[in-house]
Amino acid sequence: LLSLEGATVRFGGRAVLDAVDLEVAEHEIVCVLGPSGSGKSTLLRAVAGLQPLDSGRVRLDGRDQAGVPAHRRGVGLMFQDHQLFPQRDVGGNVAFGLRMHGASKRHQAERVRELLDLVGLPGAGQRAVAALSGGEQQRVALARALAPSPRLLMLDEPLGQLDRSLRERLVVELKELFGRLGTTVLAVTHDQGEAFALADRVVVMRDGRIAQSGTPLEVWQRPADAFVARFLGFEN
Ligand code: ATP
Ligand code: MG
Repeated sequence: LLSLEGATVRFGGRAVLDAVDLEVAEHEIVCVLGPSGSGKSTLLRAVAGLQPLDSGRVRLDGRDQAGVPAHRRGVGLMFQDHQLFPQRDVGGNVAFGLRMHGASKRHQAERVRELLDLVGLPGAGQRAVAALSGGEQQRVALARALAPSPRLLMLDEPLGQLDRSLRERLVVELKELFGRLGTTVLAVTHDQGEAFALADRVVVMRDGRIAQSGTPLEVWQRPADAFVARFLGFEN
């Protein structure tokens, strides 16, 4: 479904994404792990079309995405700081992408109801975003990202601001949800527990490069190098 070939992004001469090759198959859930500043968000932004590449390629379904604007790529991105629209109610936030795609009012209303049920916020369409808890806001952001049925859903620290018990519960719910919908997911997290619980495959990044890619078990049992081992907490 997704393939990156030699994807490179430079800021001020420094390669923040450094010739990254990555494939994500349909229905696969891939979690990107790595220290702060290793290029995880830049990777997602490049796939979404929000960050142009300096060299290399992003392909979706085999088609080169160079010059294809973000809203035409058919990918959903939930940002690190989720960025809900505070002046719109929950329903208005969830319907945002549908409106952009010209869906009818009736279709929007039905889809919003369906998605709020899906993320465990039934009947919340009229509530003010500011009056929601952090966890509820993240669920709204997730529903908004899912609304246009993206062929690839990208999540940047989707549970970042939540406490541990809520994260653990939501990870299980998300895994179940993505399995049921058959969603292809590329998710960034700095929490390895979360990555290992959610992912079919884990990608560990270091300084704009992929240090290791494998199933959670492979990465856990055979870290590719000392960096990955240290990152997983095996040594100091
Ligand atoms: P975190 O875990 O903290 O979110 P990250 O892995 O997502 O980190 P990125 O946001 O991809 O890291 O940033 C990678 C590097 O690129 C960082 O050093 C960052 O300062 C730099 N960077 C990102 N965006 C820009 C920009 N627009 N201009 C200049 N430098 C940038
Ligand atoms: Mg980031």
